[in-house]
Amino acid sequence: MQYDVDFLIIGSGIGGLTLALNVAGTGQVAIVTKKEAIETNTNYAQGGIASVLSKYDSFDLHVQDTLAAGRLKIRVYTMNHDIMTESLVEARIKTGFGSPHLRIGPIKIFADGGMSNRTAAVSQPYLTPPHGTGLKIQSREALIEAVKRYHALGYQIAIHAQGDAGISDTLDAFEAVLGPQSGNPLRHRIEHGCVWLCRRSE
Ligand SMILES: Cc1cc2nc3c(=O)[nH]c(=O)nc-3n(C[C@H](O)[C@H](O)[C@H](O)COP(=O)(O)OP(=O)(O)OC[C@H]3O[C@@H](n4cnc5c(N)ncnc54)[C@H](O)[C@@H]3O)c2cc1C
Repeated sequence: MQYDVDFLIIGSGIGGLTLALNVAGTGQVAIVTKKEAIETNTNYAQGGIASVLSKYDSFDLHVQDTLAAGRLKIRVYTMNHDIMTESLVEARIKTGFGSPHLRIGPIKIFADGGMSNRTAAVSQPYLTPPHGTGLKIQSREALIEAVKRYHALGYQIAIHAQGDAGISDTLDAFEAVLGPQSGNPLRHRIEHGCVWLCRRSE
């Protein structure tokens, strides 16, 4: 079979396709490749493994390029540890700020530890070592103050609470800002919530 074209371009990577686009207005173009047209370094590099290679390059450029190519499939809703949020507060960046791909989520506060290490704060001692009643990361009063602060600033708040004592403090803190009103407009929430006492979950 014979083709009669003005431009024969070898390669369907960024080099070949850029040339093809540039000359397409002036004549007929044919592109020849070794395998499938999509089998190029150019294709594999998009939204894949990449590195900043020179002072004219930057992470931001790579992010913009990946977004423009429509290849960024993940969406991130950040949880922001309360001991590292002052820069957010100072910049007045609140829950909801961002783009469909990267959005500021709640302030994350820890009320207690975890079940696997018996550090979740419970009202009855553990039956297995190290026994005790777990660990409160902060006092009930400090937790209430923290929740009041971030609620007043307009943040969603997510509190890690696993044991019934940690959950009890957390509910007290949410009650302190939500009061008797129905609803929870900022959608504050408990993370995990392992051991609930009936009196609190009724
Ligand atoms: C995972 C990955 C990450 C990368 N990250 C970066 C980065 O961060 N920054 C950066 O600058 N570069 C990066 N690169 C390199 C960059 O992608 C390539 O340098 C660039 O895409 C090359 O473009 P090209 O058009 O020259 O060739 P390619 O995109 O490789 O296309 C080559 C074309 O030539 C054709 N061809 C080859 N041999 C023959 C033959 N004998 N006969 C006919 N056709 C043939 C192939 O079929 C293909 O169509 C990365 C590459 C990969 C794979």
